[in-house]
Amino acid sequence: MNKNEQTQRKDLRDCLLDWSDEEIDGFFCILDDLGVSLMIGSPSGFRNLDPLCAAAFIRAKDTVEFWCEEFECTREELSEFEKRGGRLQCSGTTRKGHRCKHTVLGAYYYQRLAAWIKASKAGGYCVFHGGKI
Ligand SMILES: [Zn+2]
Repeated sequence: MNKNEQTQRKDLRDCLLDWSDEEIDGFFCILDDLGVSLMIGSPSGFRNLDPLCAAAFIRAKDTVEFWCEEFECTREELSEFEKRGGRLQCSGTTRKGHRCKHTVLGAYYYQRLAAWIKASKAGGYCVFHGGKI
């Protein structure tokens, strides 16, 4: 998606924010009655949301909180996932006592937040800290 497309999508969301909650709910109820399915970009790739859930997304004052509830994760987990681009950080410690910044070999969970959370709770190590190829 180029920057112009992102701007257009943001503008559409901004337009809907000018609507009242009742207008948003009414519009998305009509879509739901028609059997429409919507794809919405999320921190974990595009998500297929039913129109009523999409209405909740549009009305959400805090979209980060919306996604945290949707993915059942904390803000910290979501932030770390986005910051690391889905890569899993090594659980090892450097000689200076800091957490190793290398990636666990093969632990790349691009657009798979739930899998990344599960793997990060289990931990893992880079090749320098005993991780296996
Ligand atoms: Zn390491």
